[in-house]
Formats: sequence, structure tokens, C-alpha cells
Amino acid sequence: MSRVTLDQARALWNASDDELIARANDVRDRFHEPKRATYMVMRIVNYTNVCVAQCDYCAFYVLPNQDGGYVLSRDEVFAKIDELVEFGGDLVAFNGGFNPRLPLDYYCDLFASVRERYAERVEFYALTVAEFVFLADRAGLSYAETAVRLRDAGVHWVTGGGSEILTEDFRARHAKWKYTVADYFEAQRAIVESGMRTTATMVIGFDETLDERLEHLQRTRDFQDETGGLFSFLCWTYKPYGTAFGGREIPAREYWRHIALSRIFLDNVPHIRTSVLTQNEDAFRGLDYGADDFDLPIEDEVTQKAGATIDLDLDGLLAIPRSLGYTVEYRRAERPAALAT
Ligand code: SF4
Repeated sequence: MSRVTLDQARALWNASDDELIARANDVRDRFHEPKRATYMVMRIVNYTNVCVAQCDYCAFYVLPNQDGGYVLSRDEVFAKIDELVEFGGDLVAFNGGFNPRLPLDYYCDLFASVRERYAERVEFYALTVAEFVFLADRAGLSYAETAVRLRDAGVHWVTGGGSEILTEDFRARHAKWKYTVADYFEAQRAIVESGMRTTATMVIGFDETLDERLEHLQRTRDFQDETGGLFSFLCWTYKPYGTAFGGREIPAREYWRHIALSRIFLDNVPHIRTSVLTQNEDAFRGLDYGADDFDLPIEDEVTQKAGATIDLDLDGLLAIPRSLGYTVEYRRAERPAALAT
């Protein structure tokens, strides 16, 4: 089957929901059994809220020397992970700010201690690519050297988080101190080449145009063609409350349609994930639009500060995809094959 071009994808955005669903499920069926979905129970551990990037869509950060900044101690991190395990979860995603007071050694020590304490019982996404770029720059190391330092500390995964919309125009409008798109992909390539694995993410609902959304998808597909390193693609929606940029939330239907378009366009990425964190029960309709996997998160201060609400009734949440006709199965985070012992 031939690939969807950018022009075809632009036209598809005007297609009916029925057509988008049918086309998305054609691609989904190449990777997954119909009406079967997988999920994980996870926690985002926001280890610091101190950040110098000052993205205008962020309600989470505190500048250095401002009141309210924190860095979690190792014991506080362990307590959060222990609580996740009690919930039946086994995936931690570390995500914090660009804190200039934390050197690379802080991260390597933290990740090594988590690996030592939990071994393979808990998997963790160590950082986002955005934080990775900042760390490497602060340490004065190449991306390849930084990746090796983290990998040798026991890290298996660095997620593609912090990407929002991967166009230089978007970054200049909203996050000009975060990274350039060229840096983002150069760093992600180094992560893959080190043997670690990564994911793709995207956030919609700011002021981005359709062409910017498509550019993001095109860059993601190209990166996957080149490296094969992307396990999954997760898109979530912008939460505007308490941010400098403000704005409004997009309707759930627009999100579902974007999931379908992403499933159709990203014909080389195995998993398309739907966001319970930002869409709550509406996320599960995303499975009909081509998603096959989702998280049940128990905490993420970044999105909660901007208005996300977390439902801890996990059985109640799982009843929703079941009522839509899906079999849902727990999925454990895997150690990347290149790092197999
Ligand atoms: S989104 Fe991330 S990088 Fe941007 S200001 Fe918030 S914490 Fe910092």
C-alpha cells in the first residue's frame, strides 16, 4: 500500500469521521489485532520544577531563586515509585525542568540508584529529549557522550517528550530557549545509536496550523525511516489553565481525528497511544480512531498544574474501553534488545 503524502494528509483532514476511522484501522490492523488494546499503569515523577526555559504554555516551572522551587530527594523519589508499585504500576517517567543547578552526575547517580533498588521490577523513562539536550549542553558533552553516560548508569529509555510541535516557527513563538528542532533530532539520533530506545510525542491545541501539525508528523516519519528507534507515538492535548499563553482546550473529536491522521501517516511506527492524562474517559474513543495503547497515570504535576485531572479509579477507567468492545491487556515496558543482558 502506498504512503500518504503531505498533500493527501492535508486533504484527509477534511474527510468524514467514518473515512478517517476506516483508513486508520487499515493501518492499525497491520500492526495489531482488531479490538485489542494494551495499557500500562505509570507515574510521572517531576523531580524538579526549577526551569530556565520559560515556555509560555507551561504552568509548572519556577525560575531559579524564585519561591516554590524544589528538587526531590532520592528518598522522595523512592517513595513515589513505591506508591506506584502499590497501584500495580511498573513504569516511571522522570520529567522536570531545565534546572541549571543539577549537573549530569545528579542524574546518573539518581538513575543508577533507581536501577539498583528496583532492577527489572520497574522500568523508567529517564528524561525527555528536551531535558537531554539541556543536560548535554550544560555538561559540555556531545549528545553521543551524554547518551553513553546515561546508558552506563542503567538508563534504557529517553522519551521523545518535550516536543510539543516540532517546527522552528512554533519554537520561536512559544519556547525559544528550549532547543532547535535540528538539535532535538540530532540528540534523539544519538540516543538511538547508543542502544537506548525512544518514543515520539506531540501536543496539539496551541495555535499551531494544520501545516505545522503535518510538518511534525513528516519529521517523525522521516526520523523513523532513518533510525527505526521509535517504539510509539503519543499525542496529547494542551491544557491552558494558569499558563502565560492561555487559550482554550480543543474538542475531543478534533483530538480523535488527529489520532486517526497520525495512525494513517505514521505507517512505520508500531504503536499509537491515546492520552488518558489529558482526555480522561474521552481518550478511549481514540482506540476507534487507530490508537492501540494507553497509560493510566497516577501523577503528573506538569499537566495537573495546567488543569489536567487524574482519576485513580483504574478499574473504573478500564471498564470504558471494555464497554467499547476492546480486550485490554497490561503491557510491561521492555528492555531494549540492544541492551539485553
Ligand atoms: S515545558 Fe518544560 S522546559 Fe518548558 S518551561 Fe515548562 S518545565 Fe521548562
